[in-house]
Amino acid sequence: MQHRCPICKTPTDSQMHGDFPFCSERCRMRDLGNWATEKYVVSEPVFSEDDDEPDDSPEPKDSPEPHDRDH
Ligand SMILES: [Zn+2]
Repeated sequence: MQHRCPICKTPTDSQMHGDFPFCSERCRMRDLGNWATEKYVVSEPVFSEDDDEPDDSPEPKDSPEPHDRDH
């Protein structure tokens, strides 16, 4: 079975490459690194609008002031 390394697009063979579908262990580790990096970025609460985590956020969600000023 032939494939292409998802990292460097090198043609790989399942019978020749032990790290199939990656051409080498280096590319496999790099792929895992990409996943880890992406996961890290996603878990980073930079652009998160909704508060999913029970941690106390610095900005208050429910303000005690009534919202009838624009009425
Ligand atoms: Zn590769």
